[in-house]
Amino acid sequence: PPDVEILGRATWTFLHTTAAYYPEKPTPNQRANMLSLIRSLPILYPCSHCASHLEDNMKANPPDVSGRFGLSRWLCERHNDVNERLGKKKFDCGIKSLDERWKDGPSD
Ligand code: FAD
Repeated sequence: PPDVEILGRATWTFLHTTAAYYPEKPTPNQRANMLSLIRSLPILYPCSHCASHLEDNMKANPPDVSGRFGLSRWLCERHNDVNERLGKKKFDCGIKSLDERWKDGPSD
């Protein structure tokens, strides 16, 4: 079976980076595809207990694909829910911290 930690780091990198570069005003087609990508995770993610936690979490917290600000925050909050469950530190979900980590890098 896949290493859940390596898989997790790679998946979060993909998801947060894709959210960081998602348009501020996505087209209906971009929104529909982002929604499909996110909704496929509880079905396809190759860590079944992770997938099932995510499925429950998404029932209470439907994805926000309205634009990069909403999407980045929504993902950050879902990641924080996992962090909390694993006893890890929470990440600041403000757009400044998210962009610094996943888009622009540190300013100096
Ligand atoms: P990660 O949590 O992988 O984070 C990588 C980097 O992202 C961090 O170094 C930090 O810079 C940044 N970061 C941290 N938090 C946030 C945030 N909230 N928003 C934005 N950036 C952030 N593991 C399990 O053991 N059980 C599970 O049920 C489980 N469910 C998962 C569900 C999903 C959908 C995914 C993608 C992963 C899941 N994982 C689960 C894996 C887990 O989240 C971690 O990826 C893994 O434990 C490795 O952790 P890490 O400390 O290296 O950093």
